[in-house]
Amino acid sequence: MGEINIEEYNKMIKQEEACLFPKSYTCPICDEQFKSLAVRTSKLYSQGMDEDLRPRYRWVDPIKYEIVVCPVCGYGALNRYFNEMIPVWRKMIQNGMPSFSNDRVFLGGNRLSYDESLKLYEYAIMCNELAAFKESRKAYTYLKRGWAVRGKLHAERDYLKKEEIDKFQNDEKVYLKAAYDGFMKAISEEDFPIAGMEEHTLMYLCAALANRLGMYREAISMLSRLMTSRSVNPRVKDKAYDLKEIVSERLKEQERNGK
Ligand SMILES: [Zn+2]
Repeated sequence: MGEINIEEYNKMIKQEEACLFPKSYTCPICDEQFKSLAVRTSKLYSQGMDEDLRPRYRWVDPIKYEIVVCPVCGYGALNRYFNEMIPVWRKMIQNGMPSFSNDRVFLGGNRLSYDESLKLYEYAIMCNELAAFKESRKAYTYLKRGWAVRGKLHAERDYLKKEEIDKFQNDEKVYLKAAYDGFMKAISEEDFPIAGMEEHTLMYLCAALANRLGMYREAISMLSRLMTSRSVNPRVKDKAYDLKEIVSERLKEQERNGK
């Protein structure tokens, strides 16, 4: 267990708060007007991305703030989908939602901890299960939920117990798997762009998720397709090439271990 340096910690909190602002929303289910913390994109300093396209920034993890939850009815969604609502989905959510008391939805003070953010994700996941949203909308929410857990593990690893680390690592995998399955369905059912991604980017993402889930053969087959297709953007092709090196090594190791 690491020691928390209070001064450092307070400085980090201040930096994170400076990246945020209260954004106004109107709930498409109950018409409530409310504010939810959002990230000022002008304050984002990129620190690269993980191989599965999870972006990393200095001072703030925007994935913590991507969920919007209505404090009155509990409808929650990724901000990009919050207003996407049709009458039949509204009915499904209204009928299925457990009754609510305001104090159950905490929208944070000046910032959100990972635990608070993960609670907000639960509302969006609950709505995903109630409404017949498109597969891609559900999959994208699961992906972000998995990434939020990874963010927590990176930020808080020194302060977590071994059992907690195991639990969160497993939790991340469960959500990445749900995202992978959902995106594979979306590829066969929906038109591109899917969740804002063109075909090759999404195929790369699915390969990277398959790799994280230990599905090395699936990953290699998708990466090979990307590398041999002529129409693929060179940047995606480069990433596919780099990832294939890693996956091939892991597959060899898996075969050596006789699994
Ligand atoms: Zn509402």
